[in-house]
Amino acid sequence: MERIAIIGSGFSSLAASCYLARAGKNVTIFEKNETVGGRARQFKKLGFTFDMGPTWYWMPDVFERFFADFGKVPTDYYSLQKLNPAYRVVFGPDNFITIQDSLAKISEAFEAEEPGSSAKLKKFMASAQENYNIAIKDLVYRPGISPLELANFKTLSKINQFFSTISKEVRNEFKNAKLISILEFPVLFLGAKPSRTPAFYNFMNYADFELGTFHPQNGMYSVVEAIATLAKELGVTIKTCQNVEKILLENGRTKGLLINNEKIDADVVLSGADYHHTETLLEERFRQYSENYWLKKTFAPSALLFYVGFDKKIINVNHHTLFFDVDFNLHSQEIYDAPQWPTEPLFYASFPSKTDSAVAPQEKEAGIFLIPLAPGLHDIPEIREEYFENIMDRFEKLTGQEVRKSIIFKESFCINDFITDYNSYKGNAYGLANTLLQTAFLRPKLKSGKVKNLFFTGQLTVPGPGVPPALISGKLAAGLIEKYLDERTF
Ligand SMILES: Cc1cc2nc3c(=O)[nH]c(=O)nc-3n(C[C@H](O)[C@H](O)[C@H](O)COP(=O)(O)OP(=O)(O)OC[C@H]3O[C@@H](n4cnc5c(N)ncnc54)[C@H](O)[C@@H]3O)c2cc1C
Repeated sequence: MERIAIIGSGFSSLAASCYLARAGKNVTIFEKNETVGGRARQFKKLGFTFDMGPTWYWMPDVFERFFADFGKVPTDYYSLQKLNPAYRVVFGPDNFITIQDSLAKISEAFEAEEPGSSAKLKKFMASAQENYNIAIKDLVYRPGISPLELANFKTLSKINQFFSTISKEVRNEFKNAKLISILEFPVLFLGAKPSRTPAFYNFMNYADFELGTFHPQNGMYSVVEAIATLAKELGVTIKTCQNVEKILLENGRTKGLLINNEKIDADVVLSGADYHHTETLLEERFRQYSENYWLKKTFAPSALLFYVGFDKKIINVNHHTLFFDVDFNLHSQEIYDAPQWPTEPLFYASFPSKTDSAVAPQEKEAGIFLIPLAPGLHDIPEIREEYFENIMDRFEKLTGQEVRKSIIFKESFCINDFITDYNSYKGNAYGLANTLLQTAFLRPKLKSGKVKNLFFTGQLTVPGPGVPPALISGKLAAGLIEKYLDERTF
């Protein structure tokens, strides 16, 4: 039985392990941290439970499709609740828009802000749905080997949307600044500015307004646990506290891994760790991409996160609340164009205990605060503190309550932690952005061009950042490995 060694236990690695085990391979996952899940790990303290990374469960169809590949449904492993409202966007004191759980209700909210906008929204969403059907049901399941994968009648008819941007398309139709921000928000998950994201990616708006936002009970970590359980049921061995130090090579092929000075034999190595880091585990001549290549890439943002236990219930917020009360353009310039600590940051807050009583003690609230940042910034405790004070000042004013005195504890996580905990390039949080020049076959390859039996998966590869793409990436990498093993000559 062929032995497959997988580096890392993020969503992409876990997904790939399931497909490979089902194909009859002997699969072992080696994870450097104490727990599985990678960026989607969980943090628990004093009866509070926090998702350390992803909190938005979008595109439920992708999760269903993943589990269906194994004859399962998500609810075999976790229960899911559709959120209503999905989220709230705050623009100022007593100035917010609530996004509810159906397009009809969202259209009403749009019409109230900008008369005539609901008809425009209908048209916009029809295009978003078409693109969703093309992209998420088909294109993203292609391995990014050749541009021809993208060329078909449907995509060619959409070619103009690859050369226009989300920003332009939205602004052509909508004039109200709040509605523009709401429609530009979903593509932030893809890691680039809306003004640099192809208009074709409006399928994210379909995911947002039509498919909705869900909450798995106990948080996103339930999904990690579900896939790890499925992997074990299929025969995968998962080992934690296993820091891979080297990918061992002989005659241009990998022979396995070096972990804690011990050699682990493997016929194929798959890495779900950050691509740049994985290549540093190889001798230089076997790396495909130079330092210069990575330097020139547009990375998705990093983040400054706070996990806060509150001694009371927080009011005037929803499970997901976005604080868009400051200049979006300035903040995004400070992330992408002139990287620096933001002058006045937008931020996001999540209170999962609004929906899920299991994640905080009774009458208390679990709060997660996230500020997107440029990767590679100088990260020191004093700066983290300064930003915590900044967002707390605004949070208290915008939601009309005092919260600082009710903090039982707060823990922060930022660039240095992304580097230490995940070997993340420059401390990026979401991998490599999906810009026009970093889409599909233009992204780092799933199969090494220099080491025959070395493969890659995860948010720096195809299709890109996010949990649903990570699941797809794992499936694609597993498919290429199976093909390689079927076709190889000894
Ligand atoms: C703060 C934050 C918020 C997010 N919010 C959302 C959201 O709301 N919704 C959504 O869909 N997505 C979200 N994402 C994105 C999503 O979490 C990621 O795209 C996805 O989890 C990435 O999975 P992955 O498999 O590519 O990699 P990772 O999760 O990074 O896994 C890589 C693994 O490799 C391990 N590793 C690294 N080096 C080594 C080594 N040498 N030896 C052994 N192991 C090693 C790491 O420890 C890690 O476990 C968010 C991400 C972050 C960070």
